[in-house]
Amino acid sequence: MTQEELFKSLIAHAKEYGFIFQSSEVYDGLSAVYDYGQLGVELKNNIKKYWWDAMVRLNENIVGIDSAIFMHPKIWEASGHVGAFNDPLIDNKDSKKRYRADVLLEDYIAKLEEKIEKEVEKGKKKFGETFDEAQFRATNPNVLRNRVKADEVTAKMNESLNSGDLEAVRQLIIDCEIACPVSGSRNWTEVRQFNLMFSTQMGSVSEDAGTIYLRPETAQGIFVNFLNVQKTGRMKIPFGIAQIGKAFRNEIVARQFIFRMREFEQMEMQFFVRPGEEISWFEKWKEARLKWHLALGLGESKYRFHNHEKLAHYANAAADIEFEFPFGFKELEGIHSRTDFDLSQHQKFSGKKMQYFDPETNENYVPYVVETSIGLDRTFLAIYSSSYCEEKLENGEDRVVLRLPAFLAPVKLAVLPLVKKDGLPEFARKIMDDLKYDVNCQYDEKDSIGKRYRRQDAIGTPFCITIDHQSLTDNTVTIRYRDSMEQERVPVEDLRKIIEEKVSMRKVLEQI
Ligand code: ATP
Repeated sequence: MTQEELFKSLIAHAKEYGFIFQSSEVYDGLSAVYDYGQLGVELKNNIKKYWWDAMVRLNENIVGIDSAIFMHPKIWEASGHVGAFNDPLIDNKDSKKRYRADVLLEDYIAKLEEKIEKEVEKGKKKFGETFDEAQFRATNPNVLRNRVKADEVTAKMNESLNSGDLEAVRQLIIDCEIACPVSGSRNWTEVRQFNLMFSTQMGSVSEDAGTIYLRPETAQGIFVNFLNVQKTGRMKIPFGIAQIGKAFRNEIVARQFIFRMREFEQMEMQFFVRPGEEISWFEKWKEARLKWHLALGLGESKYRFHNHEKLAHYANAAADIEFEFPFGFKELEGIHSRTDFDLSQHQKFSGKKMQYFDPETNENYVPYVVETSIGLDRTFLAIYSSSYCEEKLENGEDRVVLRLPAFLAPVKLAVLPLVKKDGLPEFARKIMDDLKYDVNCQYDEKDSIGKRYRRQDAIGTPFCITIDHQSLTDNTVTIRYRDSMEQERVPVEDLRKIIEEKVSMRKVLEQI
């Protein structure tokens, strides 16, 4: 199965089992907006808890807030979003399809990189043991030609985007002979800047209604509350403020399922530090965040850092943690050293001091900020896509299993009476009524036991217990493990311990 087919089947799976639905589906859907279903919301809530506990509970100097989505419109002028939160867009005149100009170029560069890798693979096959990859990359004419081209286009793209030269961006698209994937033509419009913020009106009467924005990031709600939290929480620098909440971006090209949405959720933490100490904190947070990801157990090779060479106007260092999604390595989290840009801007635009008196140095200053910013939906997709597995079993049957980290699974335990009579359902209910206070349980008595196991495998339930006639006499049940499919007979009174041992978030948090 190709990666593309795998991606399609995991999207279908997410719908079939109640993880994710297209928004407004009965009206043919709303593009790039999704609803989380009955199991999706459980998984999402568990991810949030993992992040929140790792940030707020385990760090004495980090506290959380929940700020409003609507904020004073001046905030977005101060932050630079009104003036500069733009993407360059371009339309194809024949298909009338709209694209992000930078993405067209990035896809073109990615294709060149792909060609290089294919050539290297071919070389590997041809030369076998004697293959010297470094030498091959340095001398093979096809590799070299594509390398030069990829570097040249990357340099030109960065230069024209950085200088805001949109005509040069268009020219580069034309020079690279990039065609519209739909119409196949190269009949392009001018490149224009498009602001990604959604706006709406606040106020009941149209004359006095003011334009306000749906926040495109949660961070600004933290910056404008910096002094409130610092004073009321008697926080001492260095300290952090964390928040989980919705953000909205009118993305030009929204695709790849929940990877790029128009309404999504962020988990952000702003860490306020002494000026001059930001780079060492930046390095510390890079390391700490990677550890958080690795503790999920999805595999080290799935992650890599991408250090930004092109920095945003507010940053003096930035790196992404990229994850290997089914469509390749892409940004999952950003770690940015934002200097004192945001607080200084709010000081300027609001006229209120955004300073901190440092009792250790006897100085007043505007703190510097290191932020960690991760998309909740992207984290969901990372976990979900790398857990999804279609297997052929030894007996020739197929099974779809979601190998979710057990502590995040929406349902931890399925309680299954072997038959619907002889007191087995009542016995099963009693076990469930006891364990439901500790973990999320699901009761299921319909269909054969094999079918019920498959249903639980497909939603990632780490444990199933089966109650049979023997259970009534010796108070034991059969426990079945999702990943190994092994089964063993255990006393009912041991169940809580066995399950909690495997699904405990504490164990994972202790690793980070
Ligand atoms: P990208 O380059 O993919 O557009 P970005 O650099 O604009 O992302 P940030 O502004 O740094 O993203 O936002 C922080 C995090 O929020 C990202 O790492 C990502 O996980 C998440 N995120 C950003 N935009 C979206 C979106 N449209 N849909 C889902 N998640 C998003």
